[in-house]
Amino acid sequence: MDQSNHLRAAVRDVHDFPKPGIVFKDITPILSDSALFQDSIKLLAETAGDATVDKVVGIDARGFIFAAAVADRLNAGFIPIRKKGKLPSTTREAAYELEYGEAIVEIHEDAIKPGENVLLIDDLLATGGTAEAALKLLDGLGAHIVGVSFLIELTFLDGRSKLGTKPITSLICY
Ligand code: AMP
Repeated sequence: MDQSNHLRAAVRDVHDFPKPGIVFKDITPILSDSALFQDSIKLLAETAGDATVDKVVGIDARGFIFAAAVADRLNAGFIPIRKKGKLPSTTREAAYELEYGEAIVEIHEDAIKPGENVLLIDDLLATGGTAEAALKLLDGLGAHIVGVSFLIELTFLDGRSKLGTKPITSLICY
């Protein structure tokens, strides 16, 4: 049995949220169950393999939940990539396409030192635009990406193809 099957079983499909035609993958049933939440953190932490991880980077907002807990487990620091206008100090920004228009994410420019080992985490990989923008920021700061890990991947949207040759792992694929 796939070691993530129990996590998959807990993901709740919410139809037509946030708009008609979208099937939203609701991960809150995983968060609210202590055993499932612990397992998700353990499995995401294991995606780093034997690499030493200096910083775990989480993407606003559900990515924070997983990345912060994984950082604790790996004895690494936690770095937030946030939507524009939320980080207080000097930032770098990257834009990405949404279905309508574009969005911008930011990172503090002193968040990562060149050459630091970074594990990037988000809850879900869909079209890949968000993770692509995050990787652009991390590459710009000279991070060494040891992994890009997701709880969920919607493989039919082929977001992976935007993320180049980085090592990508998803615990649950649809
Ligand atoms: P994308 O940039 O298209 O890969 O979208 C990824 C981001 O949007 C992630 O941060 C997810 O939290 C969110 N997202 C996109 N599609 C869904 C979905 N069907 N269910 C839940 N979250 C989603």
